[in-house]
Amino acid sequence: MGRGAVRAARDQGVSAAVERLLRGGPAAVERIVDDYRERALPLVARTAADDFRAAWQALAGLDVLRLPADGARDGAQADTDGCAVGPVTRSLAAVEGIGLAGVDPGLCYALTSQLVGMQYPLRDALSGLPGRTPADIADGAVLLCHALTERGGGSDPFSMRTTARRDGDGYALDGAKTFVTAAPVADLAVVFARTGAGRSPFALSAFLVPVPSPGVTRGETFDKTALPTVPMGELLFDQARLPACALIGEEGSGLAVMASTTAWERALIMGYALGPMRLMLRRTVEWADQREHFERRMGASHQVAARVSDMAMALHRSRTQLYAMAAALDAGTPARQLAAEASLTKISVSEDYVRMTEHATALSGVRAFLPGSPLPADLHSPMAALTYAGPNDLLRVGVARQFGLPVEN
Ligand SMILES: Cc1cc2nc3c(=O)[nH]c(=O)nc-3n(C[C@H](O)[C@H](O)[C@H](O)COP(=O)(O)OP(=O)(O)OC[C@H]3O[C@@H](n4cnc5c(N)ncnc54)[C@H](O)[C@@H]3O)c2cc1C
Repeated sequence: MGRGAVRAARDQGVSAAVERLLRGGPAAVERIVDDYRERALPLVARTAADDFRAAWQALAGLDVLRLPADGARDGAQADTDGCAVGPVTRSLAAVEGIGLAGVDPGLCYALTSQLVGMQYPLRDALSGLPGRTPADIADGAVLLCHALTERGGGSDPFSMRTTARRDGDGYALDGAKTFVTAAPVADLAVVFARTGAGRSPFALSAFLVPVPSPGVTRGETFDKTALPTVPMGELLFDQARLPACALIGEEGSGLAVMASTTAWERALIMGYALGPMRLMLRRTVEWADQREHFERRMGASHQVAARVSDMAMALHRSRTQLYAMAAALDAGTPARQLAAEASLTKISVSEDYVRMTEHATALSGVRAFLPGSPLPADLHSPMAALTYAGPNDLLRVGVARQFGLPVEN
């Protein structure tokens, strides 16, 4: 940046200059981000005092959980060059805007998880729910959870012990799912269970299970250090009778359902972090610009500048990858065909989020460790992304396997 550019950035205000650099997407997408940011701003203070369900309801009031019709393009959001915004891109931009408003990251995570890990991949199954309509989900009246992990482990689905045994014209479900986001408050769970033996690809099935219901109870809840505002808990199944219509797809298609939900989730779950990442970069640049050190501003140090540049690079890379995944899904590419790219995106953005937080923490000094300071550090929440939606170590193994390497988990 030359002296003129430095002067221009200072005239605009440092945060405006940062924003300008980051607004690289099509104008229609940036407008959606801005629109949701504006609409979510009044919720920040309100939801901070709410319990999770009340805050969820407030978010649903932004209409962010309502999926557009298949293949819909929003003409109202068309760019000046005629470029229209697909529904998945629109959802991602909405999530980014809500995060950018400063809505609690845990809420943003839960929102993104439901949208991209359940609503989009399971939209057919969810539209045929007896007694409930997609509008109930869109209105926030029905909250979903994705119940895969068990106490014995999450990475290896074939280690699951939960079983669904044929019972008349339906199934009887037995077992437990643990460490499930939103389990303590959810109304409907996507539950994976064994309907066959061993490690056959057809040994698992997926079900939609109302919570609570006869034989389905909530077990332990878990306080966590990452994303602490989102409840996490356990679901217990004791001879829970499920009608045949609770089955998602065919019996034995659980692994295929999981491949779809996890590919969607890996492609886009980190979209929840875009808002918090942008806020973190803005705060850090403002701090480096103001803080006086060694009789000059802190941002005059090359080492400080390099950290800030690395943060901007991480954010730019993350944003580019996430919107590319949304565009591919909008173009109709089946999620399962995007499995490798989705894994790479999840690995890359989660690790960039951790790296950005490390830089921000270093530059904030002691203030990073004071909860009331304007520069608090939360390393736990970014670090948790290395584990959920598939631990990054295992995702790396999967990517290498897709290259044809003879590597197994
Ligand atoms: C914030 C958060 C939200 C979550 N939400 C949900 C949810 O909504 N629903 C749900 O079902 N689960 C959820 N989980 C659980 C999550 O899916 C599991 O934690 C995850 O699948 C890993 O399982 P595990 O914790 O048992 O780790 P393990 O399976 O014990 O693996 C731990 C580590 O061991 C190493 N490892 C193990 N085996 C191998 C191998 N073969 N090759 C290389 N490395 C290996 C890796 O480093 C791996 O990270 C959530 C977790 C978190 C942190």
